[in-house]
Amino acid sequence: MDHFLYRDGALFAEDVPIAEIAAAVGTPFYVYSTATLLRHFRLFDEALDGTDHLVCYAMKAASNQAILTTLAQAGAGMDVVSEGEYRRARAAGVPGEKIVFSGVGKTAGEIRAALTGGIRQFNVESEPELEVLNAVALELGTVAPITVRVNPDVDARTHAKIATGKSENKFGIPISRAGRVYAHAGSLPGIEVIGIDVHIGSQLTELEPFEQAYRKVAQLTEDLRAEGHDIRRLDLGGGLGIPYERSNTAPPLPVEYGALIKRTVGHLGCEIEIEPGRLIAGNAGLLVASVIYVKEGEGRDFLILDAAMNDLIRPAMYEAYHDILPVAEPAPGVEPRPYDIVGPVCESGDTFARNRGMPPVAPGDLVAFRSAGAYGAVMASEYNTRPLIPEVMVKDDQFAVIRPRPSFDEMINRDTIPSWL
Ligand SMILES: *Cc1c(COP(=O)(O)O)cnc(C)c1O
Repeated sequence: MDHFLYRDGALFAEDVPIAEIAAAVGTPFYVYSTATLLRHFRLFDEALDGTDHLVCYAMKAASNQAILTTLAQAGAGMDVVSEGEYRRARAAGVPGEKIVFSGVGKTAGEIRAALTGGIRQFNVESEPELEVLNAVALELGTVAPITVRVNPDVDARTHAKIATGKSENKFGIPISRAGRVYAHAGSLPGIEVIGIDVHIGSQLTELEPFEQAYRKVAQLTEDLRAEGHDIRRLDLGGGLGIPYERSNTAPPLPVEYGALIKRTVGHLGCEIEIEPGRLIAGNAGLLVASVIYVKEGEGRDFLILDAAMNDLIRPAMYEAYHDILPVAEPAPGVEPRPYDIVGPVCESGDTFARNRGMPPVAPGDLVAFRSAGAYGAVMASEYNTRPLIPEVMVKDDQFAVIRPRPSFDEMINRDTIPSWL
């Protein structure tokens, strides 16, 4: 559910007409709904009611300071994957004890920054990382709290580029080796073992892969406890999918996911952490664009938008589907026409949808991409020297630009000319 609905013939974000934002900031732009962000965070928080838990928003999905501050004020922790994200979380007011550091390639510098600034735990992804963590902690005269991210070798049944829980993926330590790695971690003076971490992929549309993974983690918890490790926290990752295609069957709800967690690991008495990203931010954001041209092709018409693959790369990168709808509500009974919906970038991959049925639109009309809040703005680039598009946040009947569009001069003047030119 989200807060982008037609009202009196026009698409609104909460109580603000999209067309009013477009007139104020120009297109293309991203717009987020505060109510949707908070609703989705609370669905997870409530799904774990009755268990000691922390929902750590995976901020790589959408990391604008206004989004982070909104979620932090609601009590969210953060899952970060770089020093930049760590600094963003701290700048948004998240205390170190609510920040989890994930990622396969943490550098000594990143580890030092987090250990100095305060951290809830590191999710360790390799044995060499464990050594660096130990060395940096000793150098700083402290102890690093850790979980080991185990790779449970389960098939997440999602797009290959976002599956992370099979043994051929680069993530985590094979669960079969976990005993040895924990024994070694337990012997290092700069390391404090506190739990286990698992994350098997993104945009999962069934509970079965989670169930398999969590049952393996439950077994591992008992095995490690028998070896004398004080396993008291389980980080169960993120990955619950969202309904990009409204006509498709919906993925499981957070409440069903929460029930699965309680069923599979509830008996262990561990503190539970989850790291949802997409489900919190995905349906809380739209990408709004204008139609530049409608070009007649052979057997199809091309809808050429002012948004492109550099603004929203998901269709080009993951063959992702986004619902695209006119901002002016189509009259009832109007026949959809087939369009190829494309951007202006000089690559055939700059195609958002092929042969998509849509009510007829004309140059100057506004269109909105649904479910663009996660892995949208954060993955944008300035390819073709196209400015990063603005981000806007809505709350009730108010809206604010939360990242302005840079000027062309700002973009060009970031480059510097060597002395020999
Ligand atoms: C990307 C990622 C997440 C979030 O995944 P979503 O599919 O956005 O929920 C959580 N944890 C880790 C370690 C990740 O890499």
